[in-house]
Order: sequence, then structure tokens, then C-alpha cells
Amino acid sequence: MSAPDPDAILYESPIHERGRRLGSELAATFALADHRFFRALASWEPLHPILNGAIGDPEATMDGLVGLGEGCPDGGMLLSFGAHAFAVAGAVARFASETVRDTFLPQLASGGMIGAFAATEAEAGSDVMAMKMRYAETRRGYVLTGAKTWISNATQADLFVVFATKDPRLHSRGISAFLVERSTPGLAVEAIPVPGHSGSSLGTVTFSDVHVGPESLLGRVNAGAQVFRHSIIQERILLSAFLTGSVRRALMRSIAHASNRQQFGAPISGNQYVSGRIVDIYRRYAATRLLLQHTIGRLHLGIATEADASLVKLECSEAAVASNLDAFRIDGAKGLESAGREGLIDVLSSITYSGTSDLQKVIIAASLGLQS
Ligand SMILES: Cc1cc2nc3c(=O)[nH]c(=O)nc-3n(C[C@H](O)[C@H](O)[C@H](O)COP(=O)(O)OP(=O)(O)OC[C@H]3O[C@@H](n4cnc5c(N)ncnc54)[C@H](O)[C@@H]3O)c2cc1C
Repeated sequence: MSAPDPDAILYESPIHERGRRLGSELAATFALADHRFFRALASWEPLHPILNGAIGDPEATMDGLVGLGEGCPDGGMLLSFGAHAFAVAGAVARFASETVRDTFLPQLASGGMIGAFAATEAEAGSDVMAMKMRYAETRRGYVLTGAKTWISNATQADLFVVFATKDPRLHSRGISAFLVERSTPGLAVEAIPVPGHSGSSLGTVTFSDVHVGPESLLGRVNAGAQVFRHSIIQERILLSAFLTGSVRRALMRSIAHASNRQQFGAPISGNQYVSGRIVDIYRRYAATRLLLQHTIGRLHLGIATEADASLVKLECSEAAVASNLDAFRIDGAKGLESAGREGLIDVLSSITYSGTSDLQKVIIAASLGLQS
């Protein structure tokens, strides 16, 4: 077999190809992002730096994640992995005490433990710093009371990064971050059944007088906003790579379908309305890949800002939605079958999770000096 031509317009690097194959195998093997799924993914060597809280070679990181995103049509599973690896492992690596990090990070990195990142509340979504979940200091540490909702991995997780406030009137200045084991008395989980997202377990997590020791604190007291910011920057940037993979998946299947499907005695690809749509998917793929390359490079150097993360998340999620809708149109009636198989709802929810597209614009506008 001849090696792929790096100058070809649809060239995929060897690491992208391996990621694509692995993503496809995982989606065929597992129905849910459970411990077996996490172990299988964690054994892939290009993911080891991320699972240990670091960003390895930026090009390899991007190619591996884009490949996984292309190969795995289950966006819920990938989102679950993202919350676990990009947000939770990232926060533990950076903010936990040495003892806590050495206890939990190897288990998170191997997939032996699953992490969930619990920030959103019923009344605090986009305005997450308006959270009501409380923490109070006790003689032996802290006590947590409140509830988090729409939490990815909720029913499978062993470990929760959870945010709580000392006093809601302090807004972001009163928030601390804690690492809480699932087995801690007072912690209860309830699944949220939704259409789509079959590979991901979404749920509400309730904390009824949950007592934790001082070692559970991540970072400093009342510096939880810093932990949130660190994790969310990393999560938004790296989840975006999965979404660019989804754009490429829409591209490849649209090219194949439009070249094979005959109407009016010729392949529908000869129709400029159809080929124009495919060019639109291609330009979104090419543009988001370049933006990702730039942004993952900045993440690797430790200089990625909130606005960098918001821009790439905005572009990649909107590109994934638009491209999958284009592919749906090109499929004709078969789009009804492919919408389920290709996880159209999972793609749609990418403009909501990890911050809505509107919220990303709010962050970018603020970085441009535009006050709301
Ligand atoms: C599949 C999925 C997985 C998720 N996983 C997690 C998780 O693991 N952990 C976690 O903590 N959360 C998670 N979430 C929650 C997610 O972060 C929130 O849904 C998101 O932040 C939006 O909050 P909301 O749903 O309360 O919408 P709202 O904040 O109520 O927003 C409703 C609408 O108002 C718009 N809006 C709100 N404020 C503004 C503003 N200032 N300017 C312009 N428009 C505005 C929004 O863009 C949106 O269109 C998940 C959500 C989904 C869908």
C-alpha cells in the first residue's frame, strides 16, 4: 500500500488515521462511556499527556483528537471523555495537593476512575458564577450543600470536581473548588433522560451536608473561579478538535453519497447546489483546523486566553452543526436514518455544552473591550 500523499487536499496524518480507526472501533464496541470505554481510550498513547494534565506535541494532539472525532459518531461519548480528561484531570493535575494528585491522577489517567466536572445549577447556567451551592468551613474541613445539574458522566463518575460558594453575594470571589469522591455520604446522583447522548450519562448530583477534609480543596479558598477558568479553557479548546473531526466526517460521507447517488441520470454531485454545500463543509473543515492548530499551539505554550478558547469553541461547534445539517440535506430521505446513526442531536448540543455560542460571543466581545 502506498503512503498517503501529504500534499493531497484531504491528507490525513498517520496519527489522525489511527485516531479515526480507534474512534470508530470504540463506537462499535461500547454503548456507554463507562469504565471499560475510558480504559480503552486511556490506553492510546497520544492521549497520555492530556490525561496527566499536560499538552504534548500540539500537532499530534490536534491530529489524534480530530481523528477520534471523525471516527466516533457518538458525540456524547467524546463529550464524556472531554469532561473527564480535559476538565477534571486538568484540574487535579494543576490544583490538587501533591498527595491528592498522586492518589487520584494515575487512576483518572488509566480510566480506572471516571471524573465529572460539576459547575452548572438549575438557576446558574450561562451565569455559572451565580451558583447557590454552599460550602462552610468546619473543624475538620468543609461541608457542601446544594445541587448541580446537566453533569456529564454523573451516573458513572467516581470523582467530582465541584464548585460551591461561601456566600452567593460574593459572586466569583466567594467560590471554591473541591474534589469529592462518589462514595462520600450525602452525595446522590439521578440520571437525566434525554433524546440523543446515548453514550453519555447526564445527571443531577445532590450534595446533602457532604463533609470533606481540607485536602479536598482544589487551589486556594475562594479561588475556585481560577480553577474553573483553567479547566474550561482547556475543555473548550480540546473539545473543539472532536467537533472539527465531526465536520470532516460530514465531509467524507457527503462526498461519498453525492458521488454515488444518481438523480436525473447523473450523480447528484454534478449539481452545483450539492457540490457547493460540500465545498462549504470543506471550507469549514479547513478553516477550523487552522484555528485549532493555532489555539492548541497557544495552549501548549500556556498562553491561551479565555477569548482564544471561546473563539475556537464558537467556530468549531457552529461549523459542526452547519456541516451536519448540510450532510443531512444531501442525504435526502436517508438523512432520517443517518441523523440517528451520526448523532445529530449530540452535534446540536455542542452549541450549548461547555458554554453556549452566545456566551462565547459575550466573552469575545469583552476581550474586544465591548461592555455589555
Ligand atoms: C450535553 C450537555 C452536557 C453538559 N455537561 C455539563 C457538565 O459536565 N458540567 C457542567 O457543569 N455543565 C454541563 N452542561 C451544562 C451547560 O454548561 C449549560 O447548559 C450551559 O452553560 C447553558 O446553561 P443553561 O442550559 O442554563 O442555559 P441558559 O444560561 O439558561 O441560557 C438560555 C439561552 O439564553 C442565552 N443567554 C444566557 N445568558 C446570555 C447572555 N448574557 N448573553 C446572550 N445570551 C445569553 C443562552 O445563550 C441560551 O441561548 C451540559 C449541558 C449539555 C447540554
